Amino acid sequence: MSKEYTVDVAVAGTGGTGLAAADAAASNGLSVIAIEKLDQIGGNTRISSGFFAIDTKEQREAGLHLSTQEAIRQLNEYNHYLNNGPLTKRIVENAKPTLEEVEKLGMGIKLNPTACTTQFAHRGNPYAGGSYHMYQDKEKAYPRIQKSLENKGVKFLFNTTMQDLIQAEDGTITGLTAKAENSEDITIHAKAVVVATGGFGGDKKRVDRLMHTDRLRKLGVPSMGEGMNALEKAGGVNIDSHALIHAAQLAKSKVTQKTSKKHLAGFSDNPLTRVLLTPLMWVDTDGRRFTNEDTVYDTVLWANAAYNVGGMYYILVDKATLEAFTNGQEMTVSKAGPGGSTKKGDFISLADKAVDDGIAFKGVDLEELAKNAGFDKENLLNSVKRYNKAVKFKNDIEFAKRGINLKFSVEKGPFYAIKAQVAYLGTVGGVRVDDHLRVLDSSFKPIKGLYAGGANAGGYYEGQSYPAYEGLASGFAWTSGRLAGLAAVEDMRSEVNKDGSTK
Ligand SMILES: Cc1cc2nc3c(=O)[nH]c(=O)nc-3n(C[C@H](O)[C@H](O)[C@H](O)COP(=O)(O)OP(=O)(O)OC[C@H]3O[C@@H](n4cnc5c(N)ncnc54)[C@H](O)[C@@H]3O)c2cc1C
Repeated sequence: MSKEYTVDVAVAGTGGTGLAAADAAASNGLSVIAIEKLDQIGGNTRISSGFFAIDTKEQREAGLHLSTQEAIRQLNEYNHYLNNGPLTKRIVENAKPTLEEVEKLGMGIKLNPTACTTQFAHRGNPYAGGSYHMYQDKEKAYPRIQKSLENKGVKFLFNTTMQDLIQAEDGTITGLTAKAENSEDITIHAKAVVVATGGFGGDKKRVDRLMHTDRLRKLGVPSMGEGMNALEKAGGVNIDSHALIHAAQLAKSKVTQKTSKKHLAGFSDNPLTRVLLTPLMWVDTDGRRFTNEDTVYDTVLWANAAYNVGGMYYILVDKATLEAFTNGQEMTVSKAGPGGSTKKGDFISLADKAVDDGIAFKGVDLEELAKNAGFDKENLLNSVKRYNKAVKFKNDIEFAKRGINLKFSVEKGPFYAIKAQVAYLGTVGGVRVDDHLRVLDSSFKPIKGLYAGGANAGGYYEGQSYPAYEGLASGFAWTSGRLAGLAAVEDMRSEVNKDGSTK
């Protein structure tokens, strides 16, 4: 069985990137088919909470007057100027009109009412912390967006997975091939193709190879990378794809994706998550302390620090610390990453349950804990000794943790080591594009008819460290998608102008 379609623009993937590309093309009178592997639009963008944009109406109303130039400068510096400068500039400058367009399509958006405070490390930097525009009532908004696009003539094919691009001998892209759920072969002939399939975060083995560890925890939709593979096969160059590592979670914990004002990126209803979300003592899987635990207040720095030890580490606590948590005397609970339940609890029972569930280890003394958890005994004893000294003198000579967070020593058994795992939210980065999201070949020349955005496009991020500016990936998805759609329109118009007929 097979089916063929002919359109101006074929869009593969309907996350923020694909939806914005389809909208831009259809709004300019082009015929568009958007194919989607799943049975609904949205992809990881639908799970994400908000959108980074500068100098928006919402910001001005909140008294925040931000400059796009300053945002561009900060992003370039964060990325060590390894990012694509012209692309970064166009994305930052076009985030605001894109946000307004997404609102028109049916998404309610409000500036994070706790601007600058969700990630405590961002206090004082309105660019990193005050630019997070939160999606409202997403479950109703996405069907509205779909309807708006259908009204503009976009045809959606669901349960349809892109397989490959169709490329003419001169290298021009002339369409794509896909497979429907019922195994029907689909061919879409198109003058332009936007590959918006959202990277390859669903392919855990590939991510493990790329990130050199199998200890990361996968979140998000199962995008397997067919789009990225096709882009490379057509001559695109994968310059910087990597996993978007983001905070950590208690091993095996369940995180709901329910976003609310209180829990911006979902939350776990286990109160033990508060132990994860406070800067206690952390050790690697060999029992060695490895970082300044204050990083828990920034999703990215936290994930990066723990990624350095493979993405898995343990939170070390003694009985007195757990009792303090039971009595509500913990330190400030981070709101970076999935929030912690605010429910009260008996933390010793919770930790014992974690031991029973195989996600924590216990020992009456540190020697027994080392044996049970598989730590090197000497490493653990030395790390604890040095940490307790740091707590006593409020001076961490090893990792420079702030004195205020050197609150709990690890002294009286029983001792617990609670397992945490860095999560990744799909992949970001991808093939080299120009500032119009045209895919470039190895000679830095556009491959005619081929565009990529969102988690398939490279150049917006430096490399393995995702910039800690809230909403950057989601904002990039919508904005790059829109620019890719507009570039397809423009390129098609200039073809017409050349010889009076579209090709
Ligand atoms: C839990 C979670 C929370 C997040 N929170 C935030 C946040 O708050 N802020 C932020 O900036 N970023 C966040 N992110 C990251 C951000 O959502 C993504 O980087 C971004 O949305 C990617 O957009 P995209 O359009 O490239 O891909 P997606 O939105 O993932 O869309 C890709 C679409 O393509 C489809 N697809 C895949 N393969 C194929 C194929 N072969 N054929 C057809 N269709 C295919 C997928 O099903 C999907 O619908 C979060 C991610 C997750 C998982």
